[in-house]
Amino acid sequence: MKAILIREHGDATHLEFADVDEPRPAAGQVKVKVEAAGVNFIDTYHRTGLYEVDLPFVLGQEGAGSVVELGSGVTGVAVGDRVAWAAGRGSYGELAVVDADRLVVVPPNVDTSIAAALLLQGLTAHYLATDTYPLSSGDTCLIHAGAGGVGLLLTQIAKIIGATVVTTVGSDSKVVLSERAGADQVINYANSDFALEATSALGDRPFDVIYDGVGKATFSKGLKLLKRRGMMVTFGNASGPVPEISPLILARMGSIFLTRPRLGDYIATNQELGKRAADLFRWISEEKLAVRIGATFDLWDAAKAHRALEGRETTGKVLLKP
Ligand code: NDP
Repeated sequence: MKAILIREHGDATHLEFADVDEPRPAAGQVKVKVEAAGVNFIDTYHRTGLYEVDLPFVLGQEGAGSVVELGSGVTGVAVGDRVAWAAGRGSYGELAVVDADRLVVVPPNVDTSIAAALLLQGLTAHYLATDTYPLSSGDTCLIHAGAGGVGLLLTQIAKIIGATVVTTVGSDSKVVLSERAGADQVINYANSDFALEATSALGDRPFDVIYDGVGKATFSKGLKLLKRRGMMVTFGNASGPVPEISPLILARMGSIFLTRPRLGDYIATNQELGKRAADLFRWISEEKLAVRIGATFDLWDAAKAHRALEGRETTGKVLLKP
C-alpha cells in the first residue's frame, strides 16, 4: 500500500510517498481503511526530530475511515463502522492500524472527513478549556493563533462557556475567521504589538489565562499580561520551543501558574476520550461548534501540506486524502 514515510529527519523534502507493507492488527487493534488523515503540527515535530520517533516511520497521528479487520479480543467496534482517532500511528497511509481503545465511533450525522478534521484539535481545545484551566463565564482569555486548527475550536468552546476571548492572528484574512468564530477582540500580531493592543483595550494584566500554542515568539511577552495568580498554558511550539525558565520568574510575575500539557495525558483512558469526543459531537449537532477544513491535499502531496502549515498559510484543519 502507499504511505508517507520518513527514513531520516529533516525538512518536508524528506516525506517519501512510498510502498510499504500493509499493517496487520495485533490483539486489541483494528485495521482501518483511511478516508482522511489529519495534518498536525506534531507530524512536523516527528519529521524534524523535535519529538523522537524510531525510523523509518510512517507519519500521522490522526485520521478517520472504516473498519476493515478486527484483531483478536476487540469488542465495541465492528467491520464497516466509521471510526476516528487522534492518538494513532501511521495515519498518512491507505490503511492504518489503531488500538481499539483509542477509537471513537463517528455518529451518523457527522461526515467522516469532519471527524478526521475535528478530533485531535477538538480534543485539545476541549481539555485546555475544561480541565487545564477550567474556564468560567467571568474569565478573560488570550488565545494565540486564533484562526488555526486549535485556535478556531478553542475560541468557539470558550464562547460556549461564556468567557471573554481575545485572539492573535497573523493576517487580515485570519482576523475575519477568528471574529466569525466568536472572538471578542482579534489582534493582528503581524503588524502590531499584541501586548500593547491588549492592554490598551483591557488595561494592565488583563488575562486569567493565556493559551499559547505559538511558543517561542509569544511566550515571554505573555507572562507580563497575566493577572495575579493567572495561568500560562504553553501547549505548542509553532514558532519554536519555549526556552527554560526559573520558577522564581513565576513568583515575580504575581504567583502565576505555568503548565505544559499534552493531549495524551488528558485522554489517558478510553472513558475520558469518549466523554470529550461526545461533548464535541454534541456541540456539532447543536450547531454550537463548526469545524473548518481549510485545505485538503492528496496523500502523495503531503510535503505541500507540511510546507503550508509551517509557512503559516493554513487556517482551520488541513487534511490528506489517500
Ligand atoms: P495551527 O493551525 O494553529 O497552525 C499554527 C499557527 O501558528 C500558524 O498558522 C500561525 O498562525 C501560528 N504561528 C505563529 N508563528 C509561527 C511560526 N513561526 N511558524 C509557523 N506557525 C506560526 O496549528 P494547530 O492548531 O495544529 O496547532 C497549534 C499548536 O498547538 C501547535 O504548536 C501544536 O503543536 C499545538 N498542539 C498541542 C497539543 C497538545 O496537546 N499539547 C495538541 C495539538 C496541537 P498565525 O499566522 O495566525 O500566527
